[in-house]
Amino acid sequence: MSKNKSSESVKVVVRCRPLNRKEESNGPAGGIVQMDLRLGQVILRNPRAPPSEPQKTFTFDAVYDANSKQRDLYDESVRPLIDSVLAGFNGTIFAYGQTGTGKTYTMQGAWLDPEKQGVIPNAFDHIFTHISRSQSDRQYLVRASYLEIYREDIRDLLDPNHGNTRGLELRESPDTGVYVQDLTSCVCKSIKEIEEVMNVGNQARAVGATDMNEHSSRSHALFLITVECSQPGPDGRKHIRVGHLNLVDLAGSERQAKTGVQGERLKEAAKINLSLSALGNVISALADGRNGHVPYRDSKLTRLLQDSLGGNAKTVMVATLGPAPQHYDETLTTLRYANRAKNIQNQPRVNEDPKDALLREFQKEIARLRAQLNHRRWLSKQKKEQLDGEDWERDGDEDTEGGEEEEEEVEKEAEEYVKMEEQRLEKEKEAIREDQFLMTEEKQRLLGENEKMMGDLRKEQEATEQLTAKYKAMESKLLVGGKNIMDHTNEQQKMLEMKRQEIAEQTRREREMQQQMLNQDEETLELRETFTSLQQEVEAKTKKLKKLYAKLQCIKAEIKDVNDEHVRSRQDLEQTQNELTRELKFKYLIIENFIPPEEKNKIMNRLMFDPEEDQWKFKSLVPAESKSSQMKKRPASAVGYKRPISQYARVAIAMGPHSRYRAENIMFLELDMTPPNTSPADRSTEAEPNQSPSLDSSPSKEEGVCRSRSWCQTQKSITSSPSNNSLTACLTATPTVAM
Ligand code: ADP
Ligand code: MG
Repeated sequence: MSKNKSSESVKVVVRCRPLNRKEESNGPAGGIVQMDLRLGQVILRNPRAPPSEPQKTFTFDAVYDANSKQRDLYDESVRPLIDSVLAGFNGTIFAYGQTGTGKTYTMQGAWLDPEKQGVIPNAFDHIFTHISRSQSDRQYLVRASYLEIYREDIRDLLDPNHGNTRGLELRESPDTGVYVQDLTSCVCKSIKEIEEVMNVGNQARAVGATDMNEHSSRSHALFLITVECSQPGPDGRKHIRVGHLNLVDLAGSERQAKTGVQGERLKEAAKINLSLSALGNVISALADGRNGHVPYRDSKLTRLLQDSLGGNAKTVMVATLGPAPQHYDETLTTLRYANRAKNIQNQPRVNEDPKDALLREFQKEIARLRAQLNHRRWLSKQKKEQLDGEDWERDGDEDTEGGEEEEEEVEKEAEEYVKMEEQRLEKEKEAIREDQFLMTEEKQRLLGENEKMMGDLRKEQEATEQLTAKYKAMESKLLVGGKNIMDHTNEQQKMLEMKRQEIAEQTRREREMQQQMLNQDEETLELRETFTSLQQEVEAKTKKLKKLYAKLQCIKAEIKDVNDEHVRSRQDLEQTQNELTRELKFKYLIIENFIPPEEKNKIMNRLMFDPEEDQWKFKSLVPAESKSSQMKKRPASAVGYKRPISQYARVAIAMGPHSRYRAENIMFLELDMTPPNTSPADRSTEAEPNQSPSLDSSPSKEEGVCRSRSWCQTQKSITSSPSNNSLTACLTATPTVAM
C-alpha cells in the first residue's frame, strides 16, 4: 500500500501476564515467553521442540512483561492516542488475545486500586483533566455509549430493556460512516458520571449472561466516547472538532471446539466467532496491501471498526499473551496475528466541523433559550420602569450585547417587577373589598378581574422559571475549559505528570532508534568489514553463512508452521461447511416431501433479500397502505354462537372435557367392572337359544365395548349446532380406537 504523507501504521504492543498460581503449580517449566523491553521484542520458546531449535522472535512497537505497570502501558502507548482524540482524530484501542490472558485487565483493570486501573479509567481521567486545564474559550461536550456484540447481535448495554428487544441495526451514512442506529448515548459532565455509565453497562453485561466467564469470552464489548470541542478560530468563528474513541475488549481468540454440535447449535457455533475470524480476514487483506477486496461487510464487528482498520483513525492494538507452556499454539497464533496487524496503514485526519456535531445543536439551543429568557426579563423590566415612571427609552433596545453584569441587573429588575406587581394587585384587591360604595356585582367583577391578572402573573412567572431551569440544564452539559471541574492537583503534581510523560516519550523514541540500529547493523556489517588475511575472510564469511543459514531455517520453519495452520483452519471450515450442507439437504428433503408445492411457492414468492441487514426476509402479505381496504372482513357469527366458530372447535366441544388424549385420538375407557366370563371360549359357536340366566345377564363382547363410556360417544351434548349432520359424519368417520 502506498504510504502517503498522512498515513500511519497501526501501533501494536504486546503484553504478557504473570504465571498464575495454577500454572505455577503445574511444574517448574516456567514461562515460554521472554521479552526484551529495550528492543520491543518477544522471544517465544516451543516447549515441545528440542533445545537446539531456534526460538521465534517478533518485534513490536512496545512490549510489556509480567512486571509491567498499568500506568506504564498507558503513558507510553495510549496517552498519545487519547491526546489525538482530544485534538479531533478518531482513535481505537483494542485488546486481542486468548481468554484469561488479561484483555479485560488491560482495558478495565481493578477500579478500586489506582495502581491497577486499566486503559478505560485512565482515559476518563485523562480526558476530563485535559478539559479542566484547557483554555476558557473552549467548550466541550463528552458523550458515552456502551454496546456488546454477542452472536452477531448488537446489544445496547445502557438500555434497560436490551435483553428483551431485538439487536440494534447498523447503518451507513456518507458523512459519519457506519453507526449503530438508536444507540443510547449519555452526556457526561464528570469522571464520576462517565464511570457510572461504565458500571451500568458492565452490570447489564453480567446480568444478561448466565455464565459470565463463558459470556465474556464470546462477546465483544465496545465502549464509545465522543469528545466534541468548540474553539474560536482565526476567522473569529467557532469551529468544532469531533474525536471518536473506541475502546474494545474483544472475545477470546481461542478456537471454539465444534465437535459433535449439530443443527441450531452448529449455526450458533459458526456465529460465535464469526466476527473474530472476519477481523482476522480483514487484517490479512489489509496487511497484504494489494488493494484487493477487504471483507468489512462479513461481520458486525468489522463494519463497526471499518474506520479503525485502514481508514480514518489512529489505532493501537494490545495483544495479550499467557506465559504457560500448554498454550504455546494459541500464543504463537496471537503473535502472528499481531505481527500482521503492524502492516496496516491508516489515514487519520482531524474531523473538523462535521454536520452532525451535537455541540453545535446544543449551542444553538442554549442561545435560543437565552434569547427567550432575556426577552421575557426585558419586557418585565420595561413594565417596571413604566410603573416607576422612569424614562425607560433611555436604555435603548434589548438586543444590545450587554455583559453579564447588565444581564444580572435586568434579571434583578424583572424579579422586582414581579414582586411589585404582586403587591399592587394585592392592595387593589383589598381596596375593592373595602370599598363600600361599589355594588356587590361590580365588586365581584372587579375582584374576578384582579384574580385573573394575578393568575396571569403567576403563570408568566412559572413559565420564566421553567425556561430558566431548562436553560441551566442545557448549559451545564457543556464543559468549559478551565472551569466546571475542580482540578485539585497542585503544581508539583502537574510537573510530576509532565516529567512522567516526557520519560515515556523518551523511552519510546529510544526503542525506535534501537530497532532501527539493529536493522541497519545487519545491512552495514559487510561494508565495514576489512580483512587482513584470506584466512580471516573465510572465517568471517563462514560465520555469516552460518547465521544466514540459521535464519533461513527459521523462515522455512515459519512457512511450514503457517502452512500447517492454514491447512488446519481450512479443514475446520470444510468440516463446518459439510455439516451445514448436510443440514441443508435434510431441510430440502423435508420441504420436498412434506410441504405442498403451492405452499412452498407462496413462501418463495414472499422472500426477499435485505442487503442492509444482510439476510433474507418475508415481504408482508398485504401491502401496508392497502391493508385496511383489502383485508377480508371477519365472518359473522353462526346462529347460536357468540362468535364465528371453526369446525375443529365444534368437534372439540362435542368431544367433551377429556382433553388429555384428544390430540393422539385415543379412546378414553372407563374400567370395565363386569365379572369375568367363565364360559368356554367356543361358546359363541354353539348359539343355543335357551341360554342360562347368568349368561343372559352378562353382556356380549360388542355390548361390553358399547357400555364402556368413551369420550367419543357424547354426541348428545351437541344440540344447538346447525352443522350437527356434518359433525356426526365426522365422528363416524373417526375410528373409535386408534393407537
Ligand atoms: P481476559 O479478559 O483476557 O479473559 P482477564 O483480564 O479476565 O482475561 O484476566 C484473567 C486473570 O489474569 C485475572 O484474574 C487478572 O487479574 C489476571 N491478570 C491478567 N493480566 C494481568 C497482569 N498483567 N498482571 C496481573 N494479573 C493479571
Ligand atoms: Mg475478558
